Amino acid sequence: MPFQEFARSHNEDGTHETTCMECLATIATVGSETELYQHESVHVCDPVNLNRMNRDRTSLPHL
Ligand SMILES: [Zn+2]
Repeated sequence: MPFQEFARSHNEDGTHETTCMECLATIATVGSETELYQHESVHVCDPVNLNRMNRDRTSLPHL
């Protein structure tokens, strides 16, 4: 199982949000930071999102 990275952020309303760095999907917005682990551990990247990411990458100009 590949290692996945997640970006966590804290919202002004006190909720916590986690975003998958692979497919850039917002996985969950929860009231307790400990809940983020549960959502992250069961997250599976949506192939549709991954395909879109790859298309965007290939369309980027090479610098
Ligand atoms: Zn993902």
